[in-house]
Amino acid sequence: MIKYALVCDQGHTFESWFSNVDGYETQVKRGFVECPACQSKQVAKAMMSPSVSTSRRKEAMRAQAASIEASAPQTAPAPPLAPAQPMALMDEGQQAMRAMVRELHQKLTENSTDVGDRFTSEARDMQSGEAPARPIHGRATLEQAKALIEEGVPVMPLPTLPDEWN
Ligand SMILES: [Zn+2]
Repeated sequence: MIKYALVCDQGHTFESWFSNVDGYETQVKRGFVECPACQSKQVAKAMMSPSVSTSRRKEAMRAQAASIEASAPQTAPAPPLAPAQPMALMDEGQQAMRAMVRELHQKLTENSTDVGDRFTSEARDMQSGEAPARPIHGRATLEQAKALIEEGVPVMPLPTLPDEWN
């Protein structure tokens, strides 16, 4: 069996089944095939014009593009990301800097006492003479560090250890 798209002399298009190619020729010539819309027996195979199919394809693509555009705003919002950490992709020079930072950190801390969270009060006591002056390091919030600097206490933030960047 073979299916043909047919068109009558009135321009109606329809499809019909034939046993084979010769069957189509024979049935059409003998007037066995008639248009279901106007019963005309002047039928022929519908021409599949390339321009028609191309424009149809374009239309289909346009419709597809439109549906993609339309669906884009409906996509679920991305899950909230963890707070972004400042980071940089390191090249060889920055690898060397990592080593320098590590060294600097070591120099700043090797001869000083880690006073941990008591850093702010220790620094104040040393500044006021209530505690013996000695090199210390520890933890302070940005606000505490700012306050110390305003009070004239010479503090500086320790460089972050490369290991802590991970
Ligand atoms: Zn017709």
